[in-house]
Amino acid sequence: MGLAVARELTRRHPRASVCVLEREAAIGTHQTGHNSGVIHAGVYYTPGSLKAQLCVEGARELYAYCEGRGIASEACGKVILATDPSELSRLDELERRAKANGVPGLRRLAARDIEALEPHARGVAGLHSPNTGIVDFAAVARAYAQDVLETGGVVTSGCGVEGVEVKARSLLLTHARGATEAGHAIFCAGAWSDRLAVLAGADPDPRIVPFRGAYLRLVPARRQLVRSLIYPVPDPSLPFLGVHLSRHLDGDVLIGPTALLAGARDAYRLRKVRRGDLLNTLAWPGSWRMFRRWWRTGLTELGHATLRSTLVRAAARYVPELRAQDVEPAASFAGVRAQALGRDGRLVDDFVFSATSRALHVRNAPSPAATSSLAIGRYVAGEAERGFGLEP
Ligand SMILES: Cc1cc2nc3c(=O)[nH]c(=O)nc-3n(C[C@H](O)[C@H](O)[C@H](O)COP(=O)(O)OP(=O)(O)OC[C@H]3O[C@@H](n4cnc5c(N)ncnc54)[C@H](O)[C@@H]3O)c2cc1C
Repeated sequence: MGLAVARELTRRHPRASVCVLEREAAIGTHQTGHNSGVIHAGVYYTPGSLKAQLCVEGARELYAYCEGRGIASEACGKVILATDPSELSRLDELERRAKANGVPGLRRLAARDIEALEPHARGVAGLHSPNTGIVDFAAVARAYAQDVLETGGVVTSGCGVEGVEVKARSLLLTHARGATEAGHAIFCAGAWSDRLAVLAGADPDPRIVPFRGAYLRLVPARRQLVRSLIYPVPDPSLPFLGVHLSRHLDGDVLIGPTALLAGARDAYRLRKVRRGDLLNTLAWPGSWRMFRRWWRTGLTELGHATLRSTLVRAAARYVPELRAQDVEPAASFAGVRAQALGRDGRLVDDFVFSATSRALHVRNAPSPAATSSLAIGRYVAGEAERGFGLEP
């Protein structure tokens, strides 16, 4: 997000001094480099929401951007499968949303149509979204960084911001390399966005609660079980959950992700715990409200995360031939989802942007924010022009 916003600002305001401060040594170390790599088409999102608007625009722009920059991407298409008649009303709702959102080429599938698209998949009905595709988002982020540099901006890595002081005419950001005084700042810190927002004077609500997403992968000899992307019909109250099968550009086919409450905001290993992160989660009233409401779902997710056979069984609902011996762990793909959680226990679904003195904050940028990044960059740059009084 930070690079997409900086890219847009340097293009619109070539004389402005734009500097990206990145904590890690490399670009795309966190969510952007550890995700399913799917260019979403905009099927799921509530019509009129920011997600709906920015995903449909963002996907279109991202394909064009990748083509222009020589980044591999492929509109391989996706099927969303109902495996039980009880899911049909939710499938109808998805179809309605997709049409309202202007998702290109969406088509309803009868059971007999599924085989032509995914010969090993089964369902009672489905949707086909031909414009859903795949890309390596870390490669996209590296290209955004290159754009920032080419249009006069600066990207400084190894520069974690630790303090924010609001002064009369500027913000003083203290960081690992000293301090930077800026007229304005836009904070895009993913899983740490709440912490930086609070440092800048914002309300602690919503808090980020990390969920670890792990994957299995098909062994090479069984990759032919999946041609492109096979997704379930999501539960509308937990739309980010649902085991899917996704082909990656390098040929790998992943199964996942799981969604297990994590002990650290960078819990790329299952057992990684950071005391501060865990306390932050447990001390938040919303966490307990969430546990009370969703404990059953939590147990299912715990099963997916700890027992390989449970995850395989969930995926075998869509691809019945799938067996435990067809998969192996794919530890390097594990990601940590920054889930914004309200004090009232509400899992915040839509993108959330907010403001404090001289600053804007991206407070919730879950999936499909990577798909939507160019559109989000434009949206936030527009907010910055209004909020900071920049001449468009
Ligand atoms: C398992 C999983 C699967 C997903 N699948 C998809 C998908 O298929 N398609 C899709 O569109 N989206 C997907 N997403 C969502 C997508 O990855 C995120 O929405 C997107 O990458 C968010 O980008 P970001 O810049 O907000 O966060 P990040 O990529 O996490 O970046 C935040 C950056 O802020 C830096 N930072 C943090 N604190 C500081 C500090 N104090 N000082 C300086 N820098 C700091 C971090 O080092 C990091 O580089 C998925 C996410 C997960 C976790």
